[in-house]
Amino acid sequence: MKAVVVMLATIFMVAACSAGTAPRATGSAAGTASGPTRVIFIVGDGTGVAQWSALLVAQDALPAAARLPVIGLVDTRCDCGRTTDSGAGATAYSIGIRTGYTMIGMDADSVAHTTVLEAAEARGLSTGMVTTTHITDATPAAFGSHVASRYDRYGIAAQYAQKDIEVLLGGGRWYFAQHPSGSLVDDMRTRYTYVTTPAEFARVDLQATDRLLGLFADSTTYPDRSVRPSLPDMARAALTILDRNPRGFFLLLENEDTDDLNHDNEPFDSVVGGMRELDAMIEVALEYQQRVPGTLIVVVGDHETGGLMVTLPRGEAPRATFQTGGHSASMVPLFAGGPGAEAFGGWRTNAEVGQLLMRAVQGDILNAP
Ligand SMILES: [Zn+2]
Repeated sequence: MKAVVVMLATIFMVAACSAGTAPRATGSAAGTASGPTRVIFIVGDGTGVAQWSALLVAQDALPAAARLPVIGLVDTRCDCGRTTDSGAGATAYSIGIRTGYTMIGMDADSVAHTTVLEAAEARGLSTGMVTTTHITDATPAAFGSHVASRYDRYGIAAQYAQKDIEVLLGGGRWYFAQHPSGSLVDDMRTRYTYVTTPAEFARVDLQATDRLLGLFADSTTYPDRSVRPSLPDMARAALTILDRNPRGFFLLLENEDTDDLNHDNEPFDSVVGGMRELDAMIEVALEYQQRVPGTLIVVVGDHETGGLMVTLPRGEAPRATFQTGGHSASMVPLFAGGPGAEAFGGWRTNAEVGQLLMRAVQGDILNAP
């Protein structure tokens, strides 16, 4: 249903979106860092101020995200100035350029640009991507591939298979195992430790594993959380593997359930459940940062979903009311901490956040005075 809505919207949007302004520069290419570069980018898909408000009032205490000292607000619109989809939203973060609907890792003229993950790989950093949906979904796809349509999932999977991404955890087994050109899993198993269930995942000897591929469902793992490991567990495993590279790493961690729950206009407690798991993953990142202080953590949504409003009627349970089953243009909060975090504060466009991420993985802003 979601896909149909987005595809219909694309038909109407494509003319306006492709007439966008010229791509902006993606930031300085001059890496100045001498030390390791460690960047954890956390996407709470669909999370705006209202979703964070839901978590705040449900637990009546500050979330772990509140320990990240820098706060910003991000304008998430796509290149034509309209409400974004997850393809254009994630691509703004991955290449630092606003683009059109469904575009992945390329600008509105279908020109592919180096992604933050690819820039990290080029500098010899380790990389990883973790999500609760299929690993070929828009957010990870924007960092690990270049396709004109986010729905080209076989194409996205094939591009991952040709890269050297150390950690891939999520759903989407079908797009690898049933690839039209033959099973990508057969080839990837020669390089990766491969798991398909939470039990197999729990048995992985992380100290002896350099590359981990976990595909826990044919497509998305939503809404049955039991088919996959928890986000905190997946984040911990990824950090254990990536931490071993003395040059550093770039790690993308995504909770897509937060988007799905709001698309489905779920009740207040369900919305909070998604936020709790997101925040528990942020806690894992913060614990890592405490042990390894030179780590930059950036947490943000790619857009708000549902037009959510949280109300606390007197004498009644908290209530979630939605304006839409789609995305909204409400600004989303950004939280950051660690070296270079200050640059992410204030009012930012999604493309500016992407440009800053690019500079971060190049070591450019991490050692700034
Ligand atoms: Zn969405």
